[in-house]
Amino acid sequence: MTSEFDLVVIGAGSGGVRAARMAAGHGARVAIVEERFFGGTCVNVGCVPKKLFSYGSHFPDEFALAEDYGYSVSGWDFDWATLRDNKSREIERLNGIYRRILDQAGVTIIEGHGRVEGPGKVSVGERIVTTDKILVAVGGKPFVPEFPGNDLIRISDDLFYLEKLPKRVAVVGGGYIATEFAGILKGLGCEVTQFYRRELFLRGFDRDIREFVAEQMAEHGTTLRFNTDVIRIEQGEGGKQLFTDTWDQFEFDEVFYATGRVPLLDNLFAEDAMPALNDGGAIVVDEHYETSIKGLFALGDVIDRLQLTPVALAEGMWLAAYLYGKDKPLAPLDYRNVATAVFSHPNIGTVGMTQEEALAHCGTIRVYKSSFRPMRYTLGNRQVRSMIKLIVDDASDRVVGLHIAGEDAAEITQGFAVAIKMGATKADFDATVGIHPTAAEELVTLRQGELVTA
Ligand code: FAD
Ligand code: NDP
Repeated sequence: MTSEFDLVVIGAGSGGVRAARMAAGHGARVAIVEERFFGGTCVNVGCVPKKLFSYGSHFPDEFALAEDYGYSVSGWDFDWATLRDNKSREIERLNGIYRRILDQAGVTIIEGHGRVEGPGKVSVGERIVTTDKILVAVGGKPFVPEFPGNDLIRISDDLFYLEKLPKRVAVVGGGYIATEFAGILKGLGCEVTQFYRRELFLRGFDRDIREFVAEQMAEHGTTLRFNTDVIRIEQGEGGKQLFTDTWDQFEFDEVFYATGRVPLLDNLFAEDAMPALNDGGAIVVDEHYETSIKGLFALGDVIDRLQLTPVALAEGMWLAAYLYGKDKPLAPLDYRNVATAVFSHPNIGTVGMTQEEALAHCGTIRVYKSSFRPMRYTLGNRQVRSMIKLIVDDASDRVVGLHIAGEDAAEITQGFAVAIKMGATKADFDATVGIHPTAAEELVTLRQGELVTA
């Protein structure tokens, strides 16, 4: 018996929508199953609303800076409900767009919870859909550790729909979300304390950048409590009482947990249809995104490679071309030199290796770095600084790492990422004439490197 579809995708998030749309474009008969929101995490409770809030959170600093330029911006006020509701309207508009994109591509939309029942069989409620291949692109969900009082915390999804902006906020975690949320909440006027269990947050990023961001955040009023873990939370009369392993007690109006995300496998597979998982619970796939079960594919956050939207998109496009394209991709997707940004205050942009990784990989490196006050801030006393850093493999002269913390870091990094991906050398950077006056020109005018050997 022929199947109804060539491909059924479970999850209409970044990876699923892209894979479905491209597969349909290559001529496949495709259905997509979605149970919550079209566009997935990124559009609804991730990148997009986060970035809109991040834009919103910079205004108070801009108002203060405007004074240095002669403007009187006294008496401004902020209405949380306006920001929240305008954001929600924009997200609804995007939901509609995602639906239309799928429709126009000829993808059949099925709403409900998808479950893999066996080879070529997906159930959505009472309905059984038959298909040649299945793609699981269900993303992840927040992980919250077990401890007394963990039912009193908020997760990242909650920030986007808060009834009221709290005054005193704790943010627990030291990764992307915690550091971005600390910046957003501080910018919007909350008193923010960020708790992180080890000595310095943003593990995995370049150490100089991590130290610089910590300094800048502290200088601008965020309280950072490193080497501090939360052991218990209780609801008190005045607020949430938070107890730490340093024997301290604090009171907050809200406690946000951003301690990582785990694959969303809830009721996703019938007992005998479960593919192999790794120790972290992520689905194991080969270089073609096929799981341990033939004809069952997975990509995006659920395979836990790089939990980034552009990575899920790239995986979706790669797989659609591999399965249905006339021109099959010649090589597996290249995960090296994927640029990334943390929209913290200050922003971080990074591509390639950290100094620590480069030392281990290259042996001898040259490190160029500079910390400076961007021109925009030179008219007053505001101590806003940026840091840039280039890491060069001494033997080949290739720039193997580029790191920025400061204004426009993400935008600048995106441009330079092309050069790094192409294998640019320090000599290529030196031969590039800068654009003056910009912050980005600093990256092509770094001349004093320090030789560092493993
Ligand atoms: P998702 O986008 O999560 O989509 C999965 C979809 O599957 C969801 O719509 C879900 O409802 C649906 N689903 C799940 N189970 C089922 C089921 N059984 N049946 C039917 N439907 C199901 N990345 C960036 O690159 N830049 C950023 O700035 C950024 N900011 C972020 C901020 C936050 C707060 C968070 C949480 C994440 C952020 N990310 C960011 C990460 C990014 O959102 C994810 O990497 C990306 O969304 C992963 O795409 P995906 O397709 O794997 O899964
Ligand atoms: P991350 O993996 O970035 O960070 C998790 C943090 O939680 C780490 O600091 C980790 O500490 C800490 N942690 C983990 N377990 C515990 C625990 N039991 N107790 C206390 N602390 C703990 O996850 P996020 O939740 O911040 O974000 C998830 C992913 O989403 C990111 O990895 C990123 O890929 C993506 N994302 C991307 C964004 C962007 O591109 N701008 C923005 C937001 C999210 P430790 O260092 O000790 O392990």
